[in-house]
Amino acid sequence: MKTILLIGLGRFGRHIARKMNELDMQVMAVDKDEDKVASVVPYVTNSEVGDATDKEYLRSLGVTNFDDCIVAIGDDFLASLEVTAYLKELGAKKVISRAARDTQEKFLLRNGADEVVYPEKIIGNWTAIRCSSESISDYIQLGDDFAIYELEIPKEWIGKTIGEIGVRHKYNINVIAIKHGTAMTSTPGADYTLAESEKLLVLGHSADINKLLKISK
Ligand code: ATP
Repeated sequence: MKTILLIGLGRFGRHIARKMNELDMQVMAVDKDEDKVASVVPYVTNSEVGDATDKEYLRSLGVTNFDDCIVAIGDDFLASLEVTAYLKELGAKKVISRAARDTQEKFLLRNGADEVVYPEKIIGNWTAIRCSSESISDYIQLGDDFAIYELEIPKEWIGKTIGEIGVRHKYNINVIAIKHGTAMTSTPGADYTLAESEKLLVLGHSADINKLLKISK
């Protein structure tokens, strides 16, 4: 089971704590505000009130014992940067820090963050892509060029098999699953016939998926 040190329990940090609780992860939560700590007690394994910009306090938490250390401090960027750098200096295995601007992302990566989470950028991109076509109902970016999309079945594909359409050869796209309501058929074969009520989960290069979206109109 993964062990996590979570620092900063604003809305972002609290969402992380709740989800990690659902995923049965072991979380030690820290915030300098007593009320914030009290609000996550039901969801975390341990919690403490403390100032994470105090390096000796951080050392006392035994940062090397955690698989991941998450710095979820938002508004106080200087504090976030200090905590990130101290965690790395103290030997943390993996430091994941939150950014709210491109420059913050750069500084955090240069000063000890192994990974940066930039919620506004991720959700901004996701919202724009979802709104770019009526056919897209969900989207996950994988690196710069690849993505998984959840799409309506293009009209001219309804009633045809995946093999007949030539999804892979003609469009350079892989169908990884078909969604029927809440049920899912994963890796459907070439003989699978597509129905109007279904949705496609496809993996491909963003440019190829854009071509497919043109025929979906
Ligand atoms: P969010 O945007 O996630 O709702 P917020 O606006 O409530 O956050 P932020 O300033 O982003 O507050 O900070 C997130 C949390 O980090 C707060 O609960 C704050 O008390 C905590 N925090 C800030 N600095 C430190 C620190 N040095 N040590 C521990 N906790 C800190």
